[in-house]
Amino acid sequence: MSDPISDIPAGSVHDRALAAYLGLAIGDALGATVEFMTPREIRHQYQVHDQIIGGGWLKLPAGEVTDDTTMSLALGQAIVDAQGWSMPHVAEAWVEWMRQGPVDCGNTCRRGIRRYMGDGSLAGPLREGDGGNGALMRNLPVVLATLGNAAAFERCSIEQAHFTHHHPLSDAATLSLGHMVRDWILTPDTAARHMPERAAQLVAHYPAFRFDPYPGRATGYIVDTVQTVLHFVLKEPDFEACVVATVNRGDDADTTGALAGMISGARSGMQGIPARWLKALKPQVRQAIEQQVRQLLAITAS
Ligand code: MG
Ligand code: MG
Repeated sequence: MSDPISDIPAGSVHDRALAAYLGLAIGDALGATVEFMTPREIRHQYQVHDQIIGGGWLKLPAGEVTDDTTMSLALGQAIVDAQGWSMPHVAEAWVEWMRQGPVDCGNTCRRGIRRYMGDGSLAGPLREGDGGNGALMRNLPVVLATLGNAAAFERCSIEQAHFTHHHPLSDAATLSLGHMVRDWILTPDTAARHMPERAAQLVAHYPAFRFDPYPGRATGYIVDTVQTVLHFVLKEPDFEACVVATVNRGDDADTTGALAGMISGARSGMQGIPARWLKALKPQVRQAIEQQVRQLLAITAS
């Protein structure tokens, strides 16, 4: 049997989309080991943490992923099931996801899903406390299902975001990083120039995101997460170097790793992703991602 990945032309939309999604899962699996650790603790224990070995505070089996990947897969499956965008389908998919007892679920995500279960509302009110990175971390399926339509990308991204996180900084980051991934997938020739421009635009509109000089915090607060991801993605053109540097900042390392892996993967395509990491990723997760990428791209093309 031929390897399905080897049939995908290098540098194609499919290749970059798949690398973005597998990059997300790899960053999640790698980072989960050192989530909530400090850079000093990571150095003390691993020197440099660069192997997918599981463990961490969630005591994961090696190759297992966390909510960043599984919530994305649930969102993407809802788009596939509805054959297009339907927030009620997404809401039900996340209820089912939470019922299955995921290894991790952030407080803001849990509160949004519970609110929907209580009153059926698809969006929460604007809230100062919603500045976590949960909406940003799971948005890749929306990017892949709307590649042909930038307005739909923005509208659907904000809809899925406000289900749990209704906060201007979360909205701005979700759109900005989503546009970077779209650029790398759709127009790779100009994306290298556009990425720093998009980062500069984000900082111009919301100076809180300023990441140069790098403040060094990598928590789940959207500002800290985005500063860390943009700092390393812009500094390290190589997929492996970028993801390793990012997760070794610790703290919300699964999520910063996932987001760095997503953007870096879209940039490098499959050829940039180390074979040892692909092999270490749980096979069911890899297969689910391969299938979902094909299905989401079919929706984009329809
Ligand atoms: Mg996680
Ligand atoms: Mg996390």
